[in-house]
Amino acid sequence: MKALQYREIGAEPVVVDVPTPEPGPGQVLLRVDAAGVCHSDIAVMGWPAEQYRYPLPMTLGHEGVGTVVGLADGAQGVAEGDRVAVYGPWGCGVCRMCAQGKENYCLRAAELGITPPGLGHDGAMAEYMLVDDARHLVPLGDLDPVQAVPLTDAGLTPYHAVKASLPKLVAGSTALVIGTGGLGHVAVQLLRALTPARVVAVDVSEDKLALARRVGAHETLLSGPETAAQVREITGGEGTRAAFDFVGAQPTVELAGAVAGVESDVTIVGIAGGTLPVGFGSTAFEVAVRAPYWGTRDELIEVLDLARAGLVGVHVERFGIDDGPQAYRALHHGEVDGRAVILPNG
Ligand code: NAD
Ligand code: ZN
Ligand code: ZN
Repeated sequence: MKALQYREIGAEPVVVDVPTPEPGPGQVLLRVDAAGVCHSDIAVMGWPAEQYRYPLPMTLGHEGVGTVVGLADGAQGVAEGDRVAVYGPWGCGVCRMCAQGKENYCLRAAELGITPPGLGHDGAMAEYMLVDDARHLVPLGDLDPVQAVPLTDAGLTPYHAVKASLPKLVAGSTALVIGTGGLGHVAVQLLRALTPARVVAVDVSEDKLALARRVGAHETLLSGPETAAQVREITGGEGTRAAFDFVGAQPTVELAGAVAGVESDVTIVGIAGGTLPVGFGSTAFEVAVRAPYWGTRDELIEVLDLARAGLVGVHVERFGIDDGPQAYRALHHGEVDGRAVILPNG
């Protein structure tokens, strides 16, 4: 089968022929319908050899949707022919966090060597993929696989982030979204669907801001030296009640901290390495700063239900698997509007 693999530190991913995997005990084999292209993969492929901690070669893809085509002994709960979305942040299934569906925060994943598909072992950018347990699968129902696949990360991650701030996003409040790419353009929609907040979006690209407006942002600002003052002005001087940073670089984290109002939330989702000092006087009083990772199993079910209800819709650009390297190039150059999705089976 064809697979898009990262094979050499610092090199582009390549399409190669690999054996079709066979499900072992408890595993489910999927024919992959669609796989999403996340900026985190670019970060991983940018790690120098000293920092790189996954196996090579590795099939990319931590957003996957597929059809069940094989079940090994011990795999139950799904049937051949079922269309499913893969919940990516696998955990042990047993610890205190996993027991709550928070497998993204599994307490034993590192110790047991459990990693997400595409971020530690072979992922969804292949004609077929293995899933270790039927527990990691959510029925897709009548959702379109290409539209739905980004919801497993570009939907789930902002959903988890936004959900934590819902009590603060009451009428009259302002929410800030920094970076309106794959995750950010879904965050704007989630904020509109779930809160009465005024949504302000910031990006370095006019195209991305146009998308943000199309999906519901009330105000859009091109990032620049005046951005913090402009956001403050929009809030009547009070500052934001929740700021979500989908870039996570030093200037964007500083922007989120600078505009954060009293008792507000700052959520750093982007992994570009920026840090925000927290201490008395460094932000407004009682600002809560968090850096979450992905989302929980039940939240993925909720996100798919939001899509089914027509309340969120991902803007997708389709690529065949042979054009996979091009999809990553386009994302790297900021040329993808919304999410790039690879269709490994055409
Ligand atoms: P993307 O490339 O689709 O979107 C990033 C957006 O940020 C683009 O629209 C870009 O124009 C904009 N941007 C870049 N620099 C900016 C700046 N200085 N100011 C304002 N906007 C800027 O990326 P994505 O796939 O949506 O991922 C976003 C970030 O979230 C990445 O860092 C990714 O690694 C991270 N991520 C984190 C988690 C998590 O669990 N914490 C999960 C998935 C992705
Ligand atoms: Zn991701
Ligand atoms: Zn666990």
